[in-house]
Amino acid sequence: MAFSGLDIYKLLPRTNCKECGFQTCLAFAMQLAKKAVSFEKCPFVAEDVRAKLEEASLPAIRAVTFGLGDGRLTVGHETVLFRHEEKFHNPTVLGVILEDDMAKAALEEAIAAVNRLRFERVGETIGVDAVALRQKTDSADKFAAFVKAVRAKTDRALILMPRSAEALKQALAHVKADKPLVSVTDPSLMDAVAAECKEADVALALREKDLDAFSSRTKALAGQGLKDIVLDLAEAGVGRRLWQLTQIRRLAIRKAERSLGFPTMAVIEDDDPVRAVCQASTYIAKYASIVLVKTRQAQYILPLLTLRQNIFTDPQKPLQVEPKIYQVGAADRKAPVLITTNFSLTYYTVLGEIEASRVPSHLICVDTEGMSVLTAWAAEKFTPERIADSLCRFKLDEVVAHKDLIIPGYVAMMSGELEDKSGWTIHVGPREASGISSYLKNFSRS
Ligand code: SF4
Repeated sequence: MAFSGLDIYKLLPRTNCKECGFQTCLAFAMQLAKKAVSFEKCPFVAEDVRAKLEEASLPAIRAVTFGLGDGRLTVGHETVLFRHEEKFHNPTVLGVILEDDMAKAALEEAIAAVNRLRFERVGETIGVDAVALRQKTDSADKFAAFVKAVRAKTDRALILMPRSAEALKQALAHVKADKPLVSVTDPSLMDAVAAECKEADVALALREKDLDAFSSRTKALAGQGLKDIVLDLAEAGVGRRLWQLTQIRRLAIRKAERSLGFPTMAVIEDDDPVRAVCQASTYIAKYASIVLVKTRQAQYILPLLTLRQNIFTDPQKPLQVEPKIYQVGAADRKAPVLITTNFSLTYYTVLGEIEASRVPSHLICVDTEGMSVLTAWAAEKFTPERIADSLCRFKLDEVVAHKDLIIPGYVAMMSGELEDKSGWTIHVGPREASGISSYLKNFSRS
């Protein structure tokens, strides 16, 4: 449970010695509660108190990582129920299930299809993050060879779903270094699989039907030193699973129930992709950390990725594109230069209009911390000084052989000052992006 400033104060020596840099122990405690300072600054915190404070500072939902290198994923580390309280930290991992009874050619085609599931959307690359490899055959050898073959063809994080401890052992011999997540659904295998996971230092996803069972299982595993755990909710209808996902999150965050404070997983077995996508959407919305589906068709995966991207966007931080000069079409040194802000929505709207005009152009996005033109101007983030500074930093004079710059019509009032500060000739463009296309077609320099 998170401690209040007063709770922390009661645990401090209360001598007001000022060695921590604060006038009083209470002032220090208040900053500790806000996580603005570390308790290391007080040399007099007793060991048992330190342990208590450390425990209290852990997130309600434990962070669990799996995968390696570019495919490394973190799930959990969540601290709130609603994203208006604070952003959700780690987006739901979306994985596709592959099974070891596939013929070689079908498997290769399936892996290639999964690898293609990456898309650009509002300046971000979104895609399937993991492949879940399920043993359907009875052969541990076959499962291990299947895992090895998939590993060789994809950089996505792996989730292993073996049917025996022996199959897991053989598979881990090939991919242990890749830090896969191991999923076990058969309770009779739990102890043997948990031992393999501990030995290999990889995370374990355990399946149970109800919260009490999860709670006692995680307590037992914690006693064995295994803490990187994912709660895999057994299929029992969408409503029931949604209720369980919500209760786990609520109990972990509001009631500080540490035995349920783990990331969650929902495996969707429905072969109908439309129904599967509906279920997956429900679980991504609330509060699955990992969702596995069977479909690998882009038309079903893209809506899930779009939903995920929107839910896991920080509501207090607008989507932004990199501040820089963007070349639109075959823009050369004579091409017109337009200027706007780095708010994603503004950038893509302006970009679309320039492309529609078929006039190759340069588009400069000034760093306005993701604000739109008028908001940035009102907040003094889109000022003549900032724009002039951007022109210098981006070395615009090396990109084009003229000195003309088109600014949005909404900030026409800054044109004189911008000309003075930058030395460029300012042209006032249309107020609305919809006017850009015809403006560019008729644009001529003075
Ligand atoms: Fe209090 Fe510790 Fe700071 Fe001294 S160093 S004022 S005891 S919190």
